[in-house]
Amino acid sequence: MLRSARLRTIIHWFRRDLRVSDNTSLHEAFTRSQTVIPFFCWDDAILRAPDVGAARVAFLLQSLESLARNLEALGHRLIVRRGAPHEQLALLAQEAKAEAVFANRDYEPYSRERDVRVQQALGAVGVQFQSFKDSVVWEEREVLTGTGGVYTVFTPYSKAWRLRARPEPRPRLAAAKSPLPATISSLPLPAASADLGHPLGHELFPAGEKAAKVALDAFVERKVFGYATGRDHPADDTGTSRLSPHLRFGTINVRTLLKRLGEARSRATSEDERRGCDIWESELIWREFYAQILVNHPHVAKGAFRPEYDRLEWSGREEWFQAWCAGMTGYPIVDAAMRCLNATGWMHNRLRMVVSMFLTKDLLISWQRGERYFMQRLVDGDLAANNGGWQWSAGTGTDAAPYFRIFNPTSQAEKFDADGRFVRRWIPELSGVPDDAVHEPWKNPLWLSRGRYPRPIVDHAVQRERCLAMYKAVRG
Ligand SMILES: Cc1cc2nc3c(=O)[nH]c(=O)nc-3n(C[C@H](O)[C@H](O)[C@H](O)COP(=O)(O)OP(=O)(O)OC[C@H]3O[C@@H](n4cnc5c(N)ncnc54)[C@H](O)[C@@H]3O)c2cc1C
Repeated sequence: MLRSARLRTIIHWFRRDLRVSDNTSLHEAFTRSQTVIPFFCWDDAILRAPDVGAARVAFLLQSLESLARNLEALGHRLIVRRGAPHEQLALLAQEAKAEAVFANRDYEPYSRERDVRVQQALGAVGVQFQSFKDSVVWEEREVLTGTGGVYTVFTPYSKAWRLRARPEPRPRLAAAKSPLPATISSLPLPAASADLGHPLGHELFPAGEKAAKVALDAFVERKVFGYATGRDHPADDTGTSRLSPHLRFGTINVRTLLKRLGEARSRATSEDERRGCDIWESELIWREFYAQILVNHPHVAKGAFRPEYDRLEWSGREEWFQAWCAGMTGYPIVDAAMRCLNATGWMHNRLRMVVSMFLTKDLLISWQRGERYFMQRLVDGDLAANNGGWQWSAGTGTDAAPYFRIFNPTSQAEKFDADGRFVRRWIPELSGVPDDAVHEPWKNPLWLSRGRYPRPIVDHAVQRERCLAMYKAVRG
């Protein structure tokens, strides 16, 4: 009934969709009502959650500032409140005499529970709640195996995903039909993330809808064509798109990305360039793969996808964890990656694989501690992708690297940071080490003593054997 009826006032509740372009719920709210109230709620349960950190809060805040400006330019006004969303929405709906609240679906366990509370609270005051698929192309149980099951292996999932048509982006929000009554009050946006309890100690990752568009333009106009090889070299900041924080907060949507990717692919002039486009599409499919794993197997948020691995006996020491966090393990590639994360909120995908495998398989520390640390630090921290990545590295997940696949951090460094450019950028203590030894500075004690860089805290070869024994013990 709601689908066809035209309503007087609909609240669009922004969550992980901080944009005016290509936004399903916002577009639906606008076309089905005379007045849309764009709404954002600071939820203290999220702000105080132990896995939330300053990089993400600061990115969110700056994206909201940009959203508020974009809405204003179209004659809309962002209404901001703070409190429990179900209470705030029920209050606002009554105050504004709204008949419905629209939102784009969020698939994380907390968000799903919150939305049930919202639906109940709104129902109690006679207001409807409607949610829309938006952040992914295919959700929940839309891409299924031939027997109707959920895919737990990426390759067949991606094949089935690719067989389907790519959706078109939604139209951009149009100018407001009438201004919101001045009586509907809004909180000002805080000046800085520190005002929300999350002081940011480093530079902010460029946020907002415009920054997302700039990053996408730069990537699909040129860089995507070299992605097949460029994506694996952390010293090159432009080898990948750096769109993950934008996808995380919805300052851009995957439909727009796919459309621009399709256009780029049609301009490709060689097999290599087409390959770059196809591999990038695969990465977008990985994102959807992990999103559907989380929604269909929510136990992964609390433990191993394969429950037998919850019995692993992690024997790593606390001081090793502290050294890993601080970038002081004595393995330059691991330390450079962790220092980069701590200083910027960002880490390249290859390095995420290296440091997560090092924590779990060299330091024998639970993937869940690393998962939590990443969520606290990463600007793109996303439960589904982060959990999927950590379980992949630990070998406990769906499509995981087998438990016996253990990266050697030194050979990874020699392969992907051959000239040591990345390591040198983050470890000034190694400035006096010759190029051909920068990934193994322990070979000459003089290099270490000069720069005060630590010796390796563990021996990779020894830890490898311990790791294999630890995994074999739970595999019987
Ligand atoms: C241990 C570990 C933790 C990770 N944690 C996160 C996280 O919290 N948030 C996050 O968005 N990604 C995470 N990833 C995946 C990946 O590292 C990042 O998405 C990628 O580095 C983002 O850089 P980009 O935007 O330049 O990616 P590009 O290479 O340009 O890829 C385009 C987009 O595809 C998606 N994508 C790419 N690789 C993956 C992947 N392996 N899994 C899921 N989606 C992917 C991202 O949305 C990315 O923005 C993690 C990977 C590992 C191994």
